[in-house]
Amino acid sequence: MEKLSIIVPCYNEEKVINLFYEETKKVLDKIKEKYEYEIIFIDDGSKDKTLDKMKMLRNNDKNVKIISFSRNFGKEAGIYAGLSNSIGDLVVLMDVDLQHDPKVILEMIDGINQGYDTVTTKKIDRKGEPIFKSIFSKMFYKLMRKLVNIDLVQGAQDYRMMKRKVVDAILSLEEYNRFSKGIFSWVGFNVLYIEVENKERVDGNSKWSFSQLVKYAIEGITSFTTSPLKISIILGFIISILAIIFGIMIIIQTIIYGKDTPGYASTITAILFIGGIQLLSIGILSEYVSKMYMEIKKRPKYIIKDKID
Ligand code: UDP
Ligand code: MG
Repeated sequence: MEKLSIIVPCYNEEKVINLFYEETKKVLDKIKEKYEYEIIFIDDGSKDKTLDKMKMLRNNDKNVKIISFSRNFGKEAGIYAGLSNSIGDLVVLMDVDLQHDPKVILEMIDGINQGYDTVTTKKIDRKGEPIFKSIFSKMFYKLMRKLVNIDLVQGAQDYRMMKRKVVDAILSLEEYNRFSKGIFSWVGFNVLYIEVENKERVDGNSKWSFSQLVKYAIEGITSFTTSPLKISIILGFIISILAIIFGIMIIIQTIIYGKDTPGYASTITAILFIGGIQLLSIGILSEYVSKMYMEIKKRPKYIIKDKID
């Protein structure tokens, strides 16, 4: 028998976790002749009864495993912990809020049997999502495709089934700043996309605020490309050329018309413009320096408080 590992990061999800288990169990029962399973719940420092609910599920089903973090480390850390602790030949990554329909697991298995190494889902619409989120996300993907040399698919979800070799490849990228969407695509392999409709979460709230989304976008760009660093070189070059032309113009003007005292507006504009660009460049630079700082410290990506397996 082959083994299927299902990894589920959870943060304050007491309202949905039982429902998730029931729905997923129904699907797993359909394939129980062929696949054993383990469901690895990662409690990402939840402040509600999430961990208790997980333990209750575990009492009735020994295939439920629990990893509980000492505090909230974020979904990326949860994914990493789940992947490193999974033992399945096939590994599924999914959200607990049932936005990722467990029934799709069956289609994913079909895809794997057709010879794909990874099967993942792609939203065909963004129904029920806040407008700002979908506009922002569209802009983000556009920018990413321009800047980064990896193929990020618009609407691709973190819902995926992977063969063991893909999981090992993902785990071999040990960076601290983890941008999973990029990492999944960076490792390559044959990927099949299944198109799904966007679903609203069954209960509870999305953990993403707008500022977190902005942070996530910056994280994505700076984790995978250094091209923003080139902006300062290009702008610096353009401005230097303009400054030389302007300088020559002033010299010629002075020779022809004599000394010209007014010039307040142009001076102030130049100072502000160049000051702005310098600050922008330093900002971009510090983004990378801070990344290097965090990587160099080699801190653990998560700390486990409790583990049941
Ligand atoms: N999640 C997590 N840690 C966090 C935030 C979220 O483990 O710090 C989990 C959450 O419990 C859910 C999944 O990540 O299973 C997706 O989160 P959410 O539904 O809030 O994101 P959205 O679907 O709105 O993108
Ligand atoms: Mg969700």
